[in-house]
Amino acid sequence: AAAAAAPSFHMTSYKLEDVDDKQRTELLKRPSIKTEAVMDLCRPILKSVKERGDEALLELTAKFDGAKLDSPVLRPPFATPDVLAKIKPEVKVAIDQAYKNIYAFHLAQKKTGGNIAASQAAGGKGAELQAQTGEREDDAVLEMETMPGVVCRRFARPIQRVGLYVPGGTAVLPSTALMLGVPAQVARCPTIVLATPPRKDGSIAPEVLYVADRVGASCVLKAGGAQAVGAMAYGTAKVPKVDKIVGPGNQFVTAAKMLVQNDTDALVSIDMPAGPSEVLVIADESSDPDFVASDLLSQAEHGPDSQVILVGIALTPEQLGRIEYALDRQARVLPRCETVRKAIEKSLTIIVPDRAEAMRWSNDYAPEHLIIQAAEPEEMARGVINAGSIFVGPWSPESCGDYASGTNHTLPTYGLARQYSGVSTSTFEKNITSQSLTADGLRLLGPHVVHLAECEELEAHANAVRLRLARLAQATSSA
Ligand code: NAD
Repeated sequence: AAAAAAPSFHMTSYKLEDVDDKQRTELLKRPSIKTEAVMDLCRPILKSVKERGDEALLELTAKFDGAKLDSPVLRPPFATPDVLAKIKPEVKVAIDQAYKNIYAFHLAQKKTGGNIAASQAAGGKGAELQAQTGEREDDAVLEMETMPGVVCRRFARPIQRVGLYVPGGTAVLPSTALMLGVPAQVARCPTIVLATPPRKDGSIAPEVLYVADRVGASCVLKAGGAQAVGAMAYGTAKVPKVDKIVGPGNQFVTAAKMLVQNDTDALVSIDMPAGPSEVLVIADESSDPDFVASDLLSQAEHGPDSQVILVGIALTPEQLGRIEYALDRQARVLPRCETVRKAIEKSLTIIVPDRAEAMRWSNDYAPEHLIIQAAEPEEMARGVINAGSIFVGPWSPESCGDYASGTNHTLPTYGLARQYSGVSTSTFEKNITSQSLTADGLRLLGPHVVHLAECEELEAHANAVRLRLARLAQATSSA
């Protein structure tokens, strides 16, 4: 009875024809994030971790997470028999299946773009070179001759030390541990630090520890928020310093990542700034209202700041009404009903006349998750220009990508899908280029380089080529 008395869940609805350019710009915007105030809170936290290391880290963990620890780090093996015993068997099997799919899809990402291993190109020293660099024979190397005798190559190497932030303040997130840990493992990063806030008793969720073992983490850092980011960015006596910090988190985590990225004492990079999670669902008269409603709600339950957008292609008021009814009915019985209500209040429906306008709205919004539940969804997906990850057709709920289909769930939010990709294997790699010229290659290319160097008045550059060309001319004339 209490649920029935609650106000209904309702998304404000607009018709494209009534929306002018100014309002369109407003509707496509995310609620603004006030980062300055949060950064001011994070600065002293980062400073104390930088200056006082583990001592500060333990104090801050006691303060913010209520956990009194002897040491901030755990070393492998993490999933001891007593830890494993606490994981439900079906959850362990599900983690194993997710691991398998995510591993396969992220391994396949290493093999695109070329087909000759660098060690093969380097000639003969295959095994020795592979042992040094972590390279495997099937790793992709791009190699081409840009002009006769001028060979260019590009190949990937793992970032040597990476920090994975797995949020843990309000939920247990083994899925995020998988989404960050598997690509780092596939990229063969030698040092993988997995940070996550401890529970009040100082423990870490057994499911997260199980994943930490599966992905080969070097240590688990029992800390959260800005202090975890600081420990990984600067390193402490117990926590290895890392070269890149990856992963989602609350506003303190995001602000701290942005601050350490700009600190030359840290020399650390980050994946991307993260905002609240979001979904855009495209529906038409062929969509199942229950499916559409369930997808909108699975995003809304992430948090009160989540953004949920429904783009309806030529939906009549009755068709929209059926989706709204399904949404209201499903939302009332969700455990996170109040979180959902707050998210839904800030969300909107836009009714557009046709498929092209639907895609234009979606591309302008650049959603983190795009769900296409309209006729010919594959065809529509080809028109996507800006999105983090796409869920194509009625049988592809976002939940599958969030957990186990194989794609990554750490995706660009806040419209950053315009210029950022989600986390992938390449997040944990950098690419190195090389060039090898033969004498004939230098004869062909050298004169052009000399002209360009002279044009830029860089005499030493020109000279490095001229003296070699002179040597070649000498050799030819004396032969
Ligand atoms: P969290 O681990 O991100 O943050 C917890 C930490 O915040 C604590 O350890 C504490 O150090 C710090 N903190 C809390 N209050 C503070 C204060 N007043 N001052 C300084 N520090 C403070 O966990 P969370 O809070 O549950 O947030 C998780 C976030 O991650 C959510 O926003 C969620 O939407 C997001 N998330 C995103 C994805 C994704 O892939 N996009 C996946 C999972 C979670």
